Amino acid sequence: MASKPSIVLFRRDLRLADNPALRAGAERGAVIPLFILDDCERQKLGGAALWWLHFSLSELAGALADRGALLVLRRGDSGAVIRSLVAETGADAVFWNRRYTSAGMAADKALKTALTEAGVAARSFNASLLRDPWEVQTKSGGPYRVFKPFWNSLRAAGPAEAKPIAPPAKLTSCDAAIPSDELSDWRLVPTKPDWAAELRGKWRPGEKGADAALQKFLQSAADDYAEMRDRPDFEGTSLLSPHLAFGEISPTAIWRAAHAAAAPGEQIEKFLSELGWREFSWHLLYHYPDLKTEPLRRDFADFPWADDDAAFTAWTRGETGYPIVDAGMRQLWRTGWMHNRVRMIVASFLVKDLLIHWRRGEEWFWDTLVDADAASNAANWQWVAGCGADAAPYFRIFNPVSQGEKFDPCGDYVRRFVPELAALPNEYIHRPWTAPKELLAKSNVQLGKNYPEPIVDHACARKLALEAFAAIKKS
Ligand SMILES: Cc1cc2nc3c(=O)[nH]c(=O)nc-3n(C[C@H](O)[C@H](O)[C@H](O)COP(=O)(O)OP(=O)(O)OC[C@H]3O[C@@H](n4cnc5c(N)ncnc54)[C@H](O)[C@@H]3O)c2cc1C
Repeated sequence: MASKPSIVLFRRDLRLADNPALRAGAERGAVIPLFILDDCERQKLGGAALWWLHFSLSELAGALADRGALLVLRRGDSGAVIRSLVAETGADAVFWNRRYTSAGMAADKALKTALTEAGVAARSFNASLLRDPWEVQTKSGGPYRVFKPFWNSLRAAGPAEAKPIAPPAKLTSCDAAIPSDELSDWRLVPTKPDWAAELRGKWRPGEKGADAALQKFLQSAADDYAEMRDRPDFEGTSLLSPHLAFGEISPTAIWRAAHAAAAPGEQIEKFLSELGWREFSWHLLYHYPDLKTEPLRRDFADFPWADDDAAFTAWTRGETGYPIVDAGMRQLWRTGWMHNRVRMIVASFLVKDLLIHWRRGEEWFWDTLVDADAASNAANWQWVAGCGADAAPYFRIFNPVSQGEKFDPCGDYVRRFVPELAALPNEYIHRPWTAPKELLAKSNVQLGKNYPEPIVDHACARKLALEAFAAIKKS
């Protein structure tokens, strides 16, 4: 056992199980678990993610304390905080799990060099992906831009760390007390106003909550996943995305549990392939660091986007007059999450019906999602817009009425989030403007008063979108 302590840096890996950095520290002896609220990073996180972070840190601190180690919370520039903690404690090693954004990788590389030069051991590990993004390569050694062959390759290789890493039963902490911030002083949770009531009811941040979500999914929804995953009126997906985004569970643990719980077959393959989309998104962000701002298909750089603030505001508030779009945007605002099918519908509506730049949608999602993920968010927005890798062709434009009728056939999802339409019969719930006047009156729907008229006519908007697309193709 080493006599000097090791610093274990926690970031988006807020868990004890399957945590190679924590294992490396614990194997050497005393550990100093550290979380740094980097002010630059804080500014970049949306309110919903900050809310999640508070509770996830609180859970992590409790789990570490149960095993004998106190989580040190510090604020400031990560590199400077770590160097100062090394000086304060005499730590001779720092371990962390990798991140894959270009800024994160550059900062970690610089930190590793600085620590090594100062005689402090520094090691990093993969804990957030099945494989490091550079490990999956085309035959010619380049990145994939098409999902299927990427997934075939990753599926065949399987996770890098196949064996589970058990959470340490006991941790040895430093002898000296180390000054730490108080979590509550970071004010990550909203108070005035407290808009997080529904988030508290819906979510259980932390490693235990992640495990519970996984078990619930495997027991109750996994058997019908391939059929039901597209139904927002039904809890047919795992709801694991925020837990994955904060690293409260590893994709490898999900992979193992899914294999152990289910017989091989279409359902489990479909579920694993969704995890594959997450991996593909990180593969893309690693190879195309500008994914958040620059279209992968360069011809889209000249797309004539509209500058329509009023329409954008109506979209963010769930007041477009298209019930499935409005239900989705209100679900997002109230719960910090939106069903994947509806994410595709609202994104298509913003980009193709309103012709508003996908970047504005990406930013809104980033601010409001509890599962905001740099790679999945950007890659999916580009996918819907038609300018990304393996993207939906631009001319495939979701019809918000028929999508609603197909995936929310009884209107239950719309009724839950757009209660002003609740009394409308199923036939009109996705297109209230076509209902007879008397029926609207009987259902207490006053179009233009208590629920908006559609802000665009979908058929006309579709035509305009196709013309704009044809124009960039020509140029
Ligand atoms: C416009 C748009 C923006 C999105 N932004 C995000 C985001 O910021 N963060 C995020 O985690 N997901 C994002 N997604 C993907 C997807 O909507 C969510 O991952 C999914 O809804 C999460 O619910 P779940 O955990 O129940 O998923 P499940 O269906 O249970 O899937 C299991 C896991 O697979 C992964 N996954 C599923 N679908 C996708 C996908 N299309 N792309 C990447 N990974 C996927 C997620 O990690 C998910 O937790 C976005 C999708 C769209 C269309």
